[in-house]
Amino acid sequence: MSAQTRSKTVSSSLTTDRLVAVEATLDLAARIKSDPVQFPLRYQNKLDQEVAGLIASSFAYGNVKLIVNTVSQILEFIGPRPSETLKNLDPNFWKSRIPRGFKHRFNSAGDLSLFLYWIGLALKNRGSLETLLTDDGAESLKFDVRLNLFIDRLTAHTPSSLLKHKKSAMFLLPKPSDGSACKRLMLFLRWMVSSGPMNLGIWRSIDPRDLVIPVDTHILRISQNLGFTKRKVADWKTALEITDHLKRLTPEDPTRFDFALCHIGISQACPSRYSSKVCVSCRINDLCLKYRRSETKQLTRIAELR
Ligand code: SF4
Repeated sequence: MSAQTRSKTVSSSLTTDRLVAVEATLDLAARIKSDPVQFPLRYQNKLDQEVAGLIASSFAYGNVKLIVNTVSQILEFIGPRPSETLKNLDPNFWKSRIPRGFKHRFNSAGDLSLFLYWIGLALKNRGSLETLLTDDGAESLKFDVRLNLFIDRLTAHTPSSLLKHKKSAMFLLPKPSDGSACKRLMLFLRWMVSSGPMNLGIWRSIDPRDLVIPVDTHILRISQNLGFTKRKVADWKTALEITDHLKRLTPEDPTRFDFALCHIGISQACPSRYSSKVCVSCRINDLCLKYRRSETKQLTRIAELR
């Protein structure tokens, strides 16, 4: 059987029931403590949820502890109504509000000032972040083109006092036309659009069928294990390839199992390296190429010893 045929067989053997069984092995409530979706879920107001969601997803790079610290810090100085606070558009206001020593890996207090200014301006001019994706004819565009437009609209105006921060602030907002997997933007959209577990499902104007899986190292690894992709790089092309496989299982929302698949990687329930101890009790090991390869190697070794 060719590798290509085997890959097709593996992915077609996976069912939603089996993914539900994998999901059931996770304590979702406990896992949320190590996931940035905890932040938008804290708010009741829709605009506050989308603002907290964009902040939390955009800063979701680095280790979990750092992400949780940074986002907690930002939301604390923004106050209990983030959307109301950000509508105050004076860019200099943020200079005094953001602690001078603020730093999140590549991003400084100035980058954060500009990022928050962009969100505030969008809320003031368009009413919500959702409308950036839907109004003025955006609905008729292809999904990736809409996403590019969303970022272009969001970052359209930069005050001269913050121009020097534009390049590094743009790191927080990648777009598909850059070729990146746009993991953080796809995560934000999953939270806003999907009604699956650990999502808010508040953007009803976007069809969950259009969602693209947020590809990080965990999703890439398990997708390779399950034969969804052979690609080594987590870029936009890889994200679309994995999403196409998932669409065969849950066409109504290809991100339906993203939380579970990602967290079995984060928790090392699916380890970075093959582990006979862990993999033997994995509920989808019969579908895992890594497991099959390892079994074959072991059988070969046993046969050689005989
Ligand atoms: S068999 Fe092991 S490597 Fe494969 S999916 Fe299961 S836990 Fe992950």
